[in-house]
Amino acid sequence: MPTRPCWVEIRTRSLEENYRFLVSLAEGQAELLAMVKADAYGHSLAACVPAAVRVGARWLGVTSVEEGVATRALCPQGRVLVMGGVFAGQGHAVVEHLLTAVAWEPWQLDELERAAHSANCPAGVQAVGLPVHLEIDTGMSRQGVSPDGLAAALARFGPASALRLEGVMTHLFAADEADGAVTEAQLVRLNQALGQIADAGLTPDWLNVGNSAALLAGEAGRIAALAGRHGMKAMLRPGLALYGLAPQFDPGFAPEKVPDGLAAARAALQPVLSWKTAVVGVRTVPAGAVVGYNGTFVATEPMRLALAAVGYADGLDRRLGNNFSLLVHGQRAPLVGRISMDQAVLDVTEIAGVEAGDEVVILGTQRDETITAFDHAEATGTIPWEVFTRIGPRVRRVAV
Ligand SMILES: *Cc1c(COP(=O)(O)O)cnc(C)c1O
Repeated sequence: MPTRPCWVEIRTRSLEENYRFLVSLAEGQAELLAMVKADAYGHSLAACVPAAVRVGARWLGVTSVEEGVATRALCPQGRVLVMGGVFAGQGHAVVEHLLTAVAWEPWQLDELERAAHSANCPAGVQAVGLPVHLEIDTGMSRQGVSPDGLAAALARFGPASALRLEGVMTHLFAADEADGAVTEAQLVRLNQALGQIADAGLTPDWLNVGNSAALLAGEAGRIAALAGRHGMKAMLRPGLALYGLAPQFDPGFAPEKVPDGLAAARAALQPVLSWKTAVVGVRTVPAGAVVGYNGTFVATEPMRLALAAVGYADGLDRRLGNNFSLLVHGQRAPLVGRISMDQAVLDVTEIAGVEAGDEVVILGTQRDETITAFDHAEATGTIPWEVFTRIGPRVRRVAV
């Protein structure tokens, strides 16, 4: 059955080209893990995982074991890293679906160790130990082992352990700050932890560090050098850039100091997602007519208003009412009045010939005009990551 016309189009070819571009930025210095957490940043796992695999991604990153199981169903071969760790009772799904968990809490290591000893853990995995990526807190105070807990965590990976320390991970939390000072301090702490890991006789394969901002700022080289010093390979974990947006740096670089990778990314990356709806009907209202809940908009002259089939339940932020425009016939049509749960009203007085069924672009390009996730974010005081992930589950995702 045809559905209400509020949908997202996913250009998987753009995702593939973005991935190839990011690989070229890493220049053989680092492996890239493709971040597909949160339903591929709202872009849909079903559309994005096959595209990422087609273009050569060997590692995919998700938040939870349940996202990992859904990813595994779309990707029988690749590695799936569960960034948010395991929760109680999930260890069996980790071994059954050959997921790889990030861990840092003792109880997470307990859960994984029990699973590694269980009958459903494949013998091949048992022979070499269940791979784990240990997260180190290098200053974000979120996930990760703190320096005073590191020795105890490392003791869990001794020769008799059912667990194998395959990777060491940390998260750079200020790679989008132009001066790089916070990142530098984090890498110093990471280097100390890596020294302690070597002293404990452990030889992990992967140093798993850095998001889109780190990659575009050119940190792959520094991360690869650190990995190399400890006999490891570097891995970076871009998300937003894969979906075609280069993070904005704060405060921005002086024009002559913009890193080459960031300048190239701004030119090369292509947004993957477009969000569209349709005009339901058009009406003419006289001067003095009020629009929407509580009449927050009053027509100052006779106006033409178009009803669009999108509301805040679809993820169109209610704060955009009287504060943003969508595209109709390639022109900006202001959102007038409050946004309802399921509808929004557009002023199309200045746009000739609008009629029921016409396409409305909420996010994306129509003729010569473009609305980006940054535009949405700026109007509502948030970031593009939130704009994407708030597009609701009832909005159909269509691969194009
Ligand atoms: C989401 C996430 C990333 C990717 O971040 P982007 O800014 O979208 O590139 C990398 N690492 C971790 C741990 C994350 O949670």
